[in-house]
Amino acid sequence: MSGFEGLPDRRWSLRGYTSEGDEAWLIRSISRKLYRCPGCHGEIEIGADHVVVQYVMRLGGTEHHHWHRRCAEEILVGELSRVARVRAGESSRDRLEARGRRPAGRRRR
Ligand SMILES: [Zn+2]
Repeated sequence: MSGFEGLPDRRWSLRGYTSEGDEAWLIRSISRKLYRCPGCHGEIEIGADHVVVQYVMRLGGTEHHHWHRRCAEEILVGELSRVARVRAGESSRDRLEARGRRPAGRRRR
């Protein structure tokens, strides 16, 4: 992790790319039920400030996972390339699902 400590937050999300070329959007969230973190396989408690990782696939489609904030910072972000912060409003679920309806070559930006 380099320079993104404390992100994502309310104002900023992060976007990077997996080695397969899929987009990975990291979005700050508060859990409303129990989730299991793919980083450590531990539980994320209800009410916890954590990170939703929304993948927008290169060929189209989306999928998301809930991660502990620390696990996302220590495990996930280092595996992504070209990580940059983006305004949280750009990473709403509706926008990302709409984005996933087009293959990468036909998306804006
Ligand atoms: Zn974890």
